[in-house]
Amino acid sequence: MTQPNRPAHPLDPIFSPRSVAIVGASRSRDSLGWALVHNLVRAEFQGTLYPVNPKARSIHSLRCYPSVSAIPDPVDLAVITVPRDFVAGVVDECLAAGVGGLVVITAGFSETGAEGRALEEQLRERVRAAGIRMVGPNCMGVFNTAEEVRLDATFSPTPPLPGSIGFVSQSGALGVAVLNLAAGLGLGLTQFISMGNKADVSGNDLLEYWEDDPATRVICMYLESFGNPKRFTEIAKRVSRKKPILVVKAGRTEEGARAASSHTGALAGADVTVSAFLEQCGVLRADTIEELFDIARAFERCAPPAGPRVGILTNAGGPGILATDACVSFGLAIPPLSEKTRKALRSFLPRVASVDNPVDMIASATADHYALSLATLLEDPELDAALVINVTPVLGDPRDILERIADVARGSEKPVLAVMMARDEFYAAVKGRGDLPPVYAFPESAARALARLAAYGAWRQRPAAEPLPELAMDDAAIAAELDGADADGHLPPARAFRVLELAGIPVARHRQVGSVAEAVAAAAELGFPVVLKAVATGLVHKSELGAVALDLRTAAEVEEAARGMEQRLAAAGLAPGGFLLQEMARGGQEVIFGISADPKLGPLLMFGLGGKYVEVFRDVRFGVTPLAPSEAREMVLGIKGRKLLEGVRGEARVDIDLLVDALLRLARLATTHPRLAELDVNPFLAAGGGRSRALDARIRVTPPATG
Ligand code: ADP
Ligand code: MG
Repeated sequence: MTQPNRPAHPLDPIFSPRSVAIVGASRSRDSLGWALVHNLVRAEFQGTLYPVNPKARSIHSLRCYPSVSAIPDPVDLAVITVPRDFVAGVVDECLAAGVGGLVVITAGFSETGAEGRALEEQLRERVRAAGIRMVGPNCMGVFNTAEEVRLDATFSPTPPLPGSIGFVSQSGALGVAVLNLAAGLGLGLTQFISMGNKADVSGNDLLEYWEDDPATRVICMYLESFGNPKRFTEIAKRVSRKKPILVVKAGRTEEGARAASSHTGALAGADVTVSAFLEQCGVLRADTIEELFDIARAFERCAPPAGPRVGILTNAGGPGILATDACVSFGLAIPPLSEKTRKALRSFLPRVASVDNPVDMIASATADHYALSLATLLEDPELDAALVINVTPVLGDPRDILERIADVARGSEKPVLAVMMARDEFYAAVKGRGDLPPVYAFPESAARALARLAAYGAWRQRPAAEPLPELAMDDAAIAAELDGADADGHLPPARAFRVLELAGIPVARHRQVGSVAEAVAAAAELGFPVVLKAVATGLVHKSELGAVALDLRTAAEVEEAARGMEQRLAAAGLAPGGFLLQEMARGGQEVIFGISADPKLGPLLMFGLGGKYVEVFRDVRFGVTPLAPSEAREMVLGIKGRKLLEGVRGEARVDIDLLVDALLRLARLATTHPRLAELDVNPFLAAGGGRSRALDARIRVTPPATG
């Protein structure tokens, strides 16, 4: 039952059975029970098929059995497609007969409501108690194209092609479309599985199944939800070191939709969390199935490049420019060519050709020109990959050009992707030719695929296990501060600043007071100039309401500002809650730190350019826990405004290490205190020479769990 070259696995009875019973097999051609038998026969399943149906003698020329228990031989896999109310009985019978694995096609379970959910729960319990695995219910089946198995236990009308991609789909309907598209592109799969309701077998199981399967070189997943994100992180991080995992994640979760009262929440949205989460696991995300397959084709045929530097070779100027723009926008580099490479190109290309990057060989370029130029680019140590573009003259057939490109590409470790702007006949002729470079119809899709190859290469070069720093904090004191939230879940400013201090993050000197008179006294104590801010439950953006007064220089100014704020709060219907006085800070760069907890995926961290315009510039980066030091540094240095931190136009460089340290501390704070639902430090004044500090902090907690 085990395929050669791989260890035994609990999913073997499902993917590599020696015998399959189709329970609910049917003679009627418009039923799933017929389609399943038909597909198994069409694929030439290498084991034995046992249709089960008490009302038929034979189906599809196969002898039919009245029940699973009537089958005279052991059954490895039972595919169940009987009406819902018979499923439990059939499963019991299968378990009694010692069936090795189940695929339940039948729908009507947890996707239909409480009753279905209860039935599904019972199914899961029975199957788990028996120690076997079940795919579904409510799924479209599984297939395995391995020559010694040839199992197609799906009802998909399109027969699968063998190949090196493992595909798991959470949606059955989409599964049919996926198989169509794959076959249309000539993309071959090792195994395909439609998980349906994931009552037992989940995406995590499939990752582990493909982890050590030598035949599966690329893993593709269509996901709608993460059942167990913690386990997914663990497994995906490990598996993506060995082979690429590409994911299309659809749908925003209801739980993930956040209140937009915090900047972090407004900027993030559930989708950003998912992206940050996947990125951290080394998983590559695609927006559509089409994109997924474009990227998968590159991974199937090319090794990741050592770096982002691409040489572009073309016979037409326009597509060369499009390719350049696309590469750059996806984060790749198109460096100028070395004098040596230019000289070599000039020696055989026509004089009117351009030997810059992109190399434009002009419309007269021959297959020889392509081969020689590509070889020259691939030899250049300052290039990591090549993108070759061919625009076919009206009547030409570029097949010979692609063959020559392929010959040269085979002699190099560097990835070569081809853009062939050619007619349909050409595509039909090269479809499924695994020995050719991946071919794309447009420069953008090739550039995107190459960028993902490069991103994966860079991720794999990162150290596998980076120790998290030991950051000591007084967690009991922090927990006590979190207990002191207002009715609406927010901490009063002094408590929020205290939490930051306890976490080891510097804050501006401040006093929180109850009345105007106390404010005047506290200002003198802090020393002028001071900043005055009103405090009130429900007051979110203070400056919008005139509740922030900067640079106050006398007691009279403080008093006047405080009275004005009281009036404005009253006019806005907010109950006064006193004042916050702060030292007046100057210089530096305003940045933002944020935390926004996703109920399923855990805390999302944010760093970016801060201040009043944070939602205008949206120059922020996200990360998830556990946050490693190199990831924190990438978040800080990854913003577009990085130069502002490094000092432009004579401004001093800010303390970047301190920003990285603060992010790591916030990550540690959020992990240890899951009650912390939202945190915005905006602005944090980033400066040099120990002058960095938080000027504004907002923290929202969820109520403590009762009982
Ligand atoms: P809010 O974000 O609720 O409007 P902030 O406390 O962030 O109120 O203050 C608004 C702006 O005032 C900040 O973005 C910052 O530019 C400035 N500011 C706030 N506190 C100080 C301070 N202590 N020193 C100097 N500038 C400050
Ligand atoms: Mg603010």
